[in-house]
Parts: sequence; C-alpha cells; structure tokens
Amino acid sequence: MPVSHDDLTIERVETIILDVPLRRPHKFARVTMDAQPVLLTLIHTRSGVVGVGEGVVPGGPWWGGESVESMKVTIDTYVVPLLLGRRVDDIEGIWRDISDRVNANLYAKTAVEVALHDAWARCLGVPVHTLLGGLARTSIDVTWALGAEPEEVVVEEALAKLHAGEHRSFKLKMGALPPEEDTRRICAITEKLAGSAGVRVDLNARWDLMTSRTYLPRLVAAGVELVEQPVPGEQVEALAEINALLPVPVMADESLRTPVDAVRLVRLRAADVWSMKTTKMGGLRRSRDIVAIAKAADIPCHGGTSIETGIGTAASLHLACAAPGVTWGSELFGPLLFAEEILQTPLRYVDGELQLPEGPGLGVTLNLDAVAALRRTDLVRGE
Ligand code: MG
Repeated sequence: MPVSHDDLTIERVETIILDVPLRRPHKFARVTMDAQPVLLTLIHTRSGVVGVGEGVVPGGPWWGGESVESMKVTIDTYVVPLLLGRRVDDIEGIWRDISDRVNANLYAKTAVEVALHDAWARCLGVPVHTLLGGLARTSIDVTWALGAEPEEVVVEEALAKLHAGEHRSFKLKMGALPPEEDTRRICAITEKLAGSAGVRVDLNARWDLMTSRTYLPRLVAAGVELVEQPVPGEQVEALAEINALLPVPVMADESLRTPVDAVRLVRLRAADVWSMKTTKMGGLRRSRDIVAIAKAADIPCHGGTSIETGIGTAASLHLACAAPGVTWGSELFGPLLFAEEILQTPLRYVDGELQLPEGPGLGVTLNLDAVAALRRTDLVRGE
C-alpha cells in the first residue's frame, strides 16, 4: 500500500522518564548507579504509527552535561513545537530547524532523531537499517563490563562468562581509586585473564597526561589490550601524545561527539579506535557520517553504549550493522545489566554476539505494562 501524507505527518509527541533498576551497581570513575533513568520519546503520526527513540546518559550529567530531566524539558519546550505537522521523513530539515533552536544537547536530539527513523521505517514497512543504506553485518561482538568488586570476584565472573561462551573480552572501569591502587588492582585482574580473554580499560577522562604517562605503560605490560579515553575530552593533543606512546590502541570516547571532533582526531592521529555512541552523537545519521570519516582515515570504530535499554541498544545495533566501518566489536551490553525488561521480546545475545532483530522500524516493541510500572511521575526523582 502506498504511504499517505497522514501516515507520515506528526500529530503528537510523548516524552516519558523511566527509572530502570540494574542487576548490580554499575560504577564509573565519578558516580555509581543502581538504576538507569531513560527518556523514551514517542512520535505519533496522524494514522497511528508510533516511532520510539531513547535519550539516555550514563547515570547522570557527569559525562556530557545532559540528564533525562534536561532532555525532557528541552524536547517538550523547544523541540515538540517544531515537530508537530511535519513529516517523519523530513529528518534533515527537522534536524536543521532543531539545531537553529537548540545548541548542543545531542543526547536529547538523539531521542527525537531515532524516533523519527523508527516511525518513518514503520510507515514504509522496512527496518531502520534500510534507511541507512542496508546491512554490512547482522550481529556484532559484545564485550562485558566487569564490576568494581574485589579482584577474585571479578576474575571469577569473567572466567564464568568466558567459559559459557557469553563474552570473549572484558572492559574494566578505572579512575575511581588513587592511580597507584587502581593500577595495581587492574594489573592483578588482567594478569589472570590475559591470554584467554581481551582486557580493556576505560578511564572516563579521569587522569591527566602525567598520570597517564606514568601508569598506562604498566597496564599495557600486564596485558591490557586497549586504553579508552584516559584524559579529558577536550585535551585531544594529550590523547594524541598517549596514543603515540603506547604500543596498544587508545580509544577516543569523550573526545568524539561531532564530525568536527572526528576531523580533529584524524588530523592529530589522537586515537587508533573510535567509540561510536548514537546517543552522544545526535543519532543515526551523524553517527554514520562519523564512521565514514573514520573509514576514510583507516580507523576502526567500536559500538559504544551509554547503558541503553533495548530501544536505544536496538538503534545502536542498526547503526553498527549498517555502517561498514564498525569493525572493532561493541559494548552493547546495556540490556544485560537491567533487572527489568521493557521490550515485548528481548534482544538476543548468542555466542558473544548481539543479533539484529527482524521486523519494521527498530525491530523491537515496547512492553507498555513494563513502561507503566517503571514510569516516573514527577520530573525530579523523589528520594
Ligand atoms: Mg567510555
């Protein structure tokens, strides 16, 4: 059936904050979270098609300044009036108009941009990856984030996952402890795992150049195979110096959000691998542009996560499967960390890989009962 103007025209937009509990606390250098707030954005068209996008940051505004609360207010107040009456396939036109009204706020823009893609694809009866040009792959390797428990517990967890065939590599968060103690802990864990599993560390921009030069070579000597974002995002020159110093890849995450950031990283050869997160980049199209820049510079990309539920993870998976340059696996483990499922059919992890779901749009459907149960009623979370 041909798609009508009404099918495509936006009639209503809903933004819903959920607080989704985690299976175990997830620790970053600066914060620990035991529930992840997410903002679902639902775009309804006149004929009843609904597209869903997820705005989500890793546990609060420490990473990039946005939060689910700021996203909701920004979208409800400044973005929704620009959407009503527009067509869901006018994504570039809508992006331009939103960007004229709202600077930065890429996480909020992602929630809207992904919902537009989901709605448009559903109107056409095709998967979102078709709108991105089709498939380069149908699944992606998924690394696992180990917790901050004592060394023996962490090693035991990693070996159990390795032997069960669930994951082949592991990511350890660093930066919460003093550098000497942190390094000793991670070296002890790495020495037990290196050889049978890949071990990567993420400093989340916590160290300075001097600390990095002092401690990172020890981590590499212990067997760490990749170091993610040791220094603050804006210190790209320092990142480049560390990348030149270390014999293993340095991955850029906080330093990479826009195509302009990408060009700067290339010019300085500041990182050997780039962390792609649809959430931090403003959605699927900007992420695809950045992967294209990486590919032209011969830099592999990794499918990063902001700890998305199944909605945001599905969006990131469509991008990772559609963009040929995402060749360095992924950390799309978000749904495995959650204690509650918000999809009718969960995403499937098989033999260490996340499988692309089939069906129109993102290929996933919200469980509205679960959404209702996890919904936050006030903008600000009550304690
Ligand atoms: Mg990171």
